[in-house]
Amino acid sequence: MKRALNKIENIKIDIKPCKVAQYGWLNFSINIGDKTIHVSASCVYDPFYDLLSWLEKIAQGYKRYVFTINEEKTYVEFDFISFCEVDMLRIKDTGKSGLVIETCVDKYQLVREFYTSFLKFYRSDNYNKEKNEIYYLYEKIEDNMNTSALFYFKSTLTYMLSLNKKDLSYLFLYFYFEKITCNNDYYETNFKHFIQYAKQNRKKYKIDIENWYFKDFDKKTYFEKIETLNDVLHKECNTTCGFRLKNFKSETLEDYIFKNRKKREDYYHNIYFDYEIIDELYDKEYLGQLKVNVYVDDIQILERYYLDLNALYFCTKENGEHRLFTCSCGVEECGGIWKTPYTKISDNELIWHIYEPKNYIFVFEKAQVEDALADLEKRMRKDKSMEEWKKIELGLTGNVSEFLGA
Ligand SMILES: [Zn+2]
Repeated sequence: MKRALNKIENIKIDIKPCKVAQYGWLNFSINIGDKTIHVSASCVYDPFYDLLSWLEKIAQGYKRYVFTINEEKTYVEFDFISFCEVDMLRIKDTGKSGLVIETCVDKYQLVREFYTSFLKFYRSDNYNKEKNEIYYLYEKIEDNMNTSALFYFKSTLTYMLSLNKKDLSYLFLYFYFEKITCNNDYYETNFKHFIQYAKQNRKKYKIDIENWYFKDFDKKTYFEKIETLNDVLHKECNTTCGFRLKNFKSETLEDYIFKNRKKREDYYHNIYFDYEIIDELYDKEYLGQLKVNVYVDDIQILERYYLDLNALYFCTKENGEHRLFTCSCGVEECGGIWKTPYTKISDNELIWHIYEPKNYIFVFEKAQVEDALADLEKRMRKDKSMEEWKKIELGLTGNVSEFLGA
């Protein structure tokens, strides 16, 4: 039977959360036409770096690129071929099903579907970050400090190297097993307290302190000491070897996805917001600061920046410059943005021109932006009381309750 060469099938990825019984596995299925291939990704052979580079190669115009997922005993092979402007994909399952899918694909649809499916899954409640994501000691420290781990260790290194191996062991026992709250400015006092606490509670850790990471530390050269500290900080402090979906991020793919979508029938960009509260540990008046994250077509944009909700609200009302993205302190320039985004409303459209730190033009349906903002507000009202929102900062001088009350 003759088959039309150019029958293009859409790819659909469906990711299922890990159940407890499947600890350390991530299952997903790839649906193409009426066929489905199931993949069990093992965290021992975390395939997500290779998946990213496979997608990047396709986006960059490679004519052929193969990548394989190791399911421990079986393999799933992905073979992309571009020949005479026809893009083809073959997926081969060497496992029980022995299934092979061979199809013509839309390269753009393939890249976007694979990339955004895993981004969405990572953000969803289905992905249990604590159980399934590897968590390194330096990240635990960073997450609980008022500074970056790198900066922290740089400034405390001399102090650490002056400690004997026992005290250093106790300090890291504390980092490893206890909840860390530490202010960089008072680290010496904090550290002394940590060491003291770990010494007194040594029994509960069930660790042979003599053979803990700093065995023979006192005899080591400076280089070896730094090497040891570096090794310890890169130990995982949850008990899974885990995936690193946190790093499933590619500027190459994001640029490709934004640049090539114009020709598509999905003319409007889609916007979505979520938020986090950045803890302010040393101020009792405030619980923290609101950080709103912005996703366009499921891709987080300007992730270092804080979205100003008031500016967002006004950009749906009037044309002009709106300081949408700022530094955590609320100042645009402080975050390195010198050219304020220009936004324009026409009929039912809202256009964002963003110039810095990256150039973007997004065309939204105005109603979709308003709906997304209303939906965000609804979730915020549900999550916390107005009393709590009063204690959470928004932008330069305000608090969140003022915005929600408005
Ligand atoms: Zn600032």
